[in-house]
Amino acid sequence: MIQTNTDSFLLKAHDFTVHYKTRRGEAHALDEISLEIAQGETLGVVGETGSGKSTLAKAVLGVLPPNATVSGQIIYHGSDLTHLNDDTLRRIRGKEIALIFQDPMTRLNPLMTIEDHFLEEIQAHESISVEEARSRAREALVSMGIHESRIRNYPHEFSGGMRQRIMIALALVLKPFLLVADEPTTSLDVIVESQILEILQDLRRVYKMSLLLITHNLGIVAEVCDRVAVLYAGKLAELGPVRDIFHRPIHPYTRALLSSVISLETKELHSIEGSPPDLLIPPSGCRFHPRCPYAQSICKENVPPLVEYRPGHFAACHFGDTFL
Ligand code: ATP
Ligand code: MG
Repeated sequence: MIQTNTDSFLLKAHDFTVHYKTRRGEAHALDEISLEIAQGETLGVVGETGSGKSTLAKAVLGVLPPNATVSGQIIYHGSDLTHLNDDTLRRIRGKEIALIFQDPMTRLNPLMTIEDHFLEEIQAHESISVEEARSRAREALVSMGIHESRIRNYPHEFSGGMRQRIMIALALVLKPFLLVADEPTTSLDVIVESQILEILQDLRRVYKMSLLLITHNLGIVAEVCDRVAVLYAGKLAELGPVRDIFHRPIHPYTRALLSSVISLETKELHSIEGSPPDLLIPPSGCRFHPRCPYAQSICKENVPPLVEYRPGHFAACHFGDTFL
């Protein structure tokens, strides 16, 4: 387990907020999120669909769409990523911070072979010979269990799961400091999934890569993450060491999320009542209050602050004390 030392963070979001302009109004996709990732740490990000997970991933890479407006900061190596110019961001992207997208086809160009993708990525950041770049590309592909003879194929010649592994190989070929993985294993079967998680774990161990892992799968979080951030409707509901989040969660939303997980011991499946709110008009006070079985009038009126209940274990609930 890696201890998080706030002085040695690699990336730190502070009051980070993203709104999307839409024809119906502004979607409050992320609201004053503060969290950090230490070197070598794996931070899991969980939350229902629409909670802002991919928005956070895109913001870290500086690839938010043009209708997004951003406030707050994301500090990386002492600079605010939200204020870097495009050239600097391009240098960092891929080389220092890499992203595995939720949908592999958004990243793979159907007109380029897999080898072209690798060469483009490597040569954009490193001045090495084509031969060396080729051999690195083959090595990366093989490490994801794809035979090197397939390197001259086009994306459509692979299955969805293989394309996802190619994406991961592409993201890892430059050995980034931080890998942002948005649902990296959703389209894979469980065997390939566990192989990939093992590879990611090895990379962390060998060269202290940090990982921001976005997933719906709480089993994966329990297995590979050091800490977990729980997002609800664009707000940070809870943040803490993985053991605390799983064994003594504080926020009623986290508790509901955990009890909705099926395991071998599960006798009945609890789903969370209601559906996530419309982010164009988020609920007042605590955004979870309309679905919370413990909600009181204060929950409707005031936004709960994020409070540290145990060392490193934060929750944003007016009644956090009663759930300790
Ligand atoms: P999922 O689990 O389904 O991937 P998510 O947690 O990744 O969901 P986001 O994709 O970050 O959620 O979306 C957060 C909110 O922002 C949603 O309400 C979504 O509708 C809205 N949103 C996302 N992208 C845009 C966009 N380009 N324009 C307008 N609204 C957007
Ligand atoms: Mg998403």
